[in-house]
Amino acid sequence: MNRIEEIVDQTQSSDWERLLKNRDEALVRKILSRPRKDARDLALLLSPAADNTLEEIARYAHRVTVKRFGRVMQLYAPLYISNFCVGGCPYCGFRSDRSAQRRRLTIEEVLQEGGLLTQSGMRHILLVSGEDPKGASVAFLAEAVTKLKQIAPSVSIEVPPLKEADYKTLATAGVDGVTLYQETYDPIRYAACHPSGPKSDYTYRLTALDRAGRAGIPKLTLGALWGLGPWRLEALRLGLHAMALERHYWRSHIALGMPRLKQVPNDFSIPYPMDDRSLVHVIAALRAFLPDAGLVLSTREPPALRDKLVPLGITQVSAGSKTEPGGYAAPGAATDQFEVSDHRTPAEVADRLQRLGYDPVWKDWEPTFGGMAP
Ligand code: SF4
Repeated sequence: MNRIEEIVDQTQSSDWERLLKNRDEALVRKILSRPRKDARDLALLLSPAADNTLEEIARYAHRVTVKRFGRVMQLYAPLYISNFCVGGCPYCGFRSDRSAQRRRLTIEEVLQEGGLLTQSGMRHILLVSGEDPKGASVAFLAEAVTKLKQIAPSVSIEVPPLKEADYKTLATAGVDGVTLYQETYDPIRYAACHPSGPKSDYTYRLTALDRAGRAGIPKLTLGALWGLGPWRLEALRLGLHAMALERHYWRSHIALGMPRLKQVPNDFSIPYPMDDRSLVHVIAALRAFLPDAGLVLSTREPPALRDKLVPLGITQVSAGSKTEPGGYAAPGAATDQFEVSDHRTPAEVADRLQRLGYDPVWKDWEPTFGGMAP
């Protein structure tokens, strides 16, 4: 059993269950006064007692973030390269059994999309693809990244898990970051939600960021898809996974994404829908536990909520996102993965961040530094 699987296994015990059910608010307040938090503290910060002290945790999370990151907010945009997928995840609009307008971009089309993004001010691009070995091969990704880096200083990838050698190839091509969400840390639930295709291999996905870390990828972003499992336990496992990565790959910057399932295909119902308050709770608790981690918020969330979540510890937001391949040049010509809830342009998001007292940063990454971001 590898290190991350051990974490998942250990957190199944009744000890952890008891901590996650804690009702002692005084205990939560005591944790907030400690400079460093351990794994048990995270469980208590996620417990029902913490529901009643959420405002205090939120204030603490804000203070910790400002101390560590200042008021800088990095902006990024996804660039979908393919919506072909051999996967069958029941919650996803790209799954293979759905009729959809499918599209794979050519290198020229990727560069056209990248050019439009840089014209809008974007300097951080996240290349995204489903399980499409034909349209998003390692060779294709490497070529796309090498060429995109001529116009954008930072290019990350959110693609299916790869071998360590492939991550090394992509690091050499210029990939700055790998984003990979486990979706759910519960192996049984994972199997039910990922019944077919390469994604059905729970362990291969769980260990992917280790391979990316060993390959020297500078930024590793992990996450759970909120809604697939009970959020307190999922957040505990996510936090412990992030802590393990921080310890082992200290040269890489660790960040956590906060994707929440909202719109799903009609034949799927979200098993554990997460409300706004629970999302606030998770973000504040994870920030209190991981003061050095980046926290990423996408346009899945609507503008008013995003504006409220930012001060809790968010360090990176997407803006002006399109979730279909070719969506910047020809919106609507292919099926999107999910409906974006924040339709503001990048300039409007940047303007709002400034009004909230933040400094929107289009570029905070200089490859020649070869160091940590942000
Ligand atoms: S979640 Fe990913 S692997 Fe699953 S169907 Fe959607 S794009 Fe494919």
